[in-house]
Amino acid sequence: METQRDIRLLNFPELEQQLLEAGEQKFRAKQIWQWIWQKGARSFEEMTNLSVELRQFLSLHFEIKPIKSEKIQLSTDGTIKTRFQLHDGHFIESVLIPVPNDERFTVCVSCQVGCSLTCKFCATGKMKRIRNLDPGEIVDQVVEVNKQCLEHFNHPLTNIVYMGMGEPLLTYQNVMKSIERITSPDGLGMSPKRITVSTAGIAKMIHKLAEDQVKFNLALSLHAANDVKRNEIMPINEQNSLQVLMDSLDAFYQQTGNRITFEYIALNGFNDTMEDAAQLLKLCRRFPVKLNIIEYNPIEGEVFSKSDDPVINRFAAFLAEKGVAVTLRRSRGKDIDAACGQLANKA
Ligand code: SF4
Repeated sequence: METQRDIRLLNFPELEQQLLEAGEQKFRAKQIWQWIWQKGARSFEEMTNLSVELRQFLSLHFEIKPIKSEKIQLSTDGTIKTRFQLHDGHFIESVLIPVPNDERFTVCVSCQVGCSLTCKFCATGKMKRIRNLDPGEIVDQVVEVNKQCLEHFNHPLTNIVYMGMGEPLLTYQNVMKSIERITSPDGLGMSPKRITVSTAGIAKMIHKLAEDQVKFNLALSLHAANDVKRNEIMPINEQNSLQVLMDSLDAFYQQTGNRITFEYIALNGFNDTMEDAAQLLKLCRRFPVKLNIIEYNPIEGEVFSKSDDPVINRFAAFLAEKGVAVTLRRSRGKDIDAACGQLANKA
């Protein structure tokens, strides 16, 4: 028996071609495309504006491989973490972070099973990278968490961050395709301005984002303001020094004009001194930056601890006084291991 192809791996011209070869009319491709990417269809039977024969043809030759919600955990602060099972049995996690007062409902999506980078403060980095997610598996997380958001908060998602498991710029094509499906009018129709891709810092690929003139925002997981410290906690820095990274971000800003955010997890006694703040200030001066200082969440077997509140308040105040747009982010979803860097801790 012929093996069925995953229909969501076809691009639009390929889908059109398949239908023409089957003797169908071209416009059917658009209908099917909308079922898959706009309405989140999980089976061909749902595609009720197609003829029964066409649905049978599709079922015979193609399949849809949706992700399945396997475990949902609710935090006391409203955060919801979902563990999804993929068609091949692997697991990934997504987190819904609601801020109802600001009408801000953000999903943090994963882009790989595991991660090949080994950032010291991150639970995902303790797993090996198993595989990249398909564009459909990334979009599914948005579709499923959007349903949760409507159900729990009566509000659709407003923001998407690629900040879950995996390094987005190491699965560039799939991430770009997923964003295309999320933003296109034939897809979910969300604004790219509501999307932020977060990277551990791969300069070559940041230049590629600049060349590709992407419309979404970029966040750099900075976490240390000099190379010695950054090498210690993020081995990727050894091939992507801060100088090289800042040059790439400058190119990104010049080419796209899109917002750049620095994420900075405050680690007690490691990167929270006033000397660190002064070095960080220099990095924030090269192009407009939004700085998020994040409370650290301990993961099993690691030596770091969370910075003391007065220390971190002083650190943030120093930068704010110098004109940096700083936000101090208390962690969300800690009780369910959904906070930054905690995904896959217990999976
Ligand atoms: S922080 Fe991101 S890039 Fe680093 S190990 Fe964790 S998932 Fe991978």
